[in-house]
Amino acid sequence: MTRCERFDQCVAFFEQQAKKLPATTHFMESTYCLTGNHHCARFVFFMSRGEDDIPLDLFPCQHVRGEILSRG
Ligand code: SF4
Repeated sequence: MTRCERFDQCVAFFEQQAKKLPATTHFMESTYCLTGNHHCARFVFFMSRGEDDIPLDLFPCQHVRGEILSRG
């Protein structure tokens, strides 16, 4: 199983969310980071913007929000 190459840039996101939603955070990590980053809104945002200012509160499952933000 290969971990997403962007994991180091998402550590702050996971640390913040793990305090509030530990089970959800674990689920997101196993679903997106360890299985399929091409479905992750954070990854898509990075690929379209090519920069590291991914919103700290953008969840991997927030595809529509990620698309709207990436146009901005
Ligand atoms: S949240 Fe998305 S971009 Fe971040 S490490 Fe996981 S799959 Fe990669």
